[in-house]
Amino acid sequence: MENTKEMRKWLDDLGLNHPLVIAGPCSAETEEQVLKIAHELKDTDVNYYRAGIWKPRTRPGNFEGVGALGLKWLQKVKAETGLKTATEVANRNHVELALEHDIDLLWIGARSTVSPFIVQEIADALKGTDKIVLVKNPVNPDLPLWLGAIERLASSDIMNLGVIHRGFSTYEKSKYRNNPEWQIAIELQTKFPDLPLINDPSHITGKRNMIFDVSQTALDLNFDGLMIETHFDPDNAWSDAAQQVTPKSLVQIMEDLRIRKETDPEAEYNNTLNNLRAQIDVVDNQIIELLGKRMKVADGIGELKKQKNVAVLQSKRWNEILGKMVLEGEDKGLSEEFILRLFKAIHQESINHQEKIING
Ligand code: PEP
Ligand code: MN
Repeated sequence: MENTKEMRKWLDDLGLNHPLVIAGPCSAETEEQVLKIAHELKDTDVNYYRAGIWKPRTRPGNFEGVGALGLKWLQKVKAETGLKTATEVANRNHVELALEHDIDLLWIGARSTVSPFIVQEIADALKGTDKIVLVKNPVNPDLPLWLGAIERLASSDIMNLGVIHRGFSTYEKSKYRNNPEWQIAIELQTKFPDLPLINDPSHITGKRNMIFDVSQTALDLNFDGLMIETHFDPDNAWSDAAQQVTPKSLVQIMEDLRIRKETDPEAEYNNTLNNLRAQIDVVDNQIIELLGKRMKVADGIGELKKQKNVAVLQSKRWNEILGKMVLEGEDKGLSEEFILRLFKAIHQESINHQEKIING
């Protein structure tokens, strides 16, 4: 991908002195709801008004969107408030209807990005238009698949592009609705620093009280903007009730976020430093997560040793592990002394856990 500078022209042309903000309800529900939220967002930092018209639901039986009717409501939003509009498209028919109704920005949802057939169909339907298209990450953590969607659009001469990081599905329960896997966004940004990168803390967290922290991490990692689901009555929203915030909270969130601008060398230095620190925080969290996992496995071994009545300490196996880890560490530029100290500490913690299990 060579033209990432050109891909961000639409964003640079906005000349914003704050991150791009896309806000609005998860779903368009009624004309009144769509217009009421839009009017509440009118004189804020919001740049694009979002509302899902066709809703991809994991299981049937949930609200699946109002359909094309909602596009008229979005046109009204633009006429009455001047806010530019955004919606999700998932097939050729959606694209044609969105174009007819002059929607300004289209996004491809996480469930569509996984399918090259769908992405190609959307790219073909958009060929020759100057629409802004944002591609949400696929539900599975696959960077080439995500980038492949951008490439398909670029091959159809769609040049106003960007990506939305909305987290990844996991089988294991975590505190997030969709695990952020920040390292994937960091890798994407390292490879394509110009490609507009928007964070969607709503779908990452699934909970409104976690939105601020995820947004701050995204800004510290130099994301270009945020997409935040907003509703005047979040608890009674027809979809994604737990994660939507009121327009008033959205304004508060934007006010409280530390926004970094690269205006002078000192600010740029601080910006780079904060970015690197944010990356360290991501890795530190992963280390804790992994240590927790390791300890759970050790507990399982403890249970087994209890049943079979064998000693906790198995020094032969332990020396083998240490030897292997010293070699692996060397390969990564980590000293033998450090690896030995680190693994002795980890081992001691496992032994403490197992002793507890065996002795009651
Ligand atoms: C949405 O933005 O409402 C949506 C359905 O998102 P995702 O594709 O990230 O699940
Ligand atoms: Mn949603």
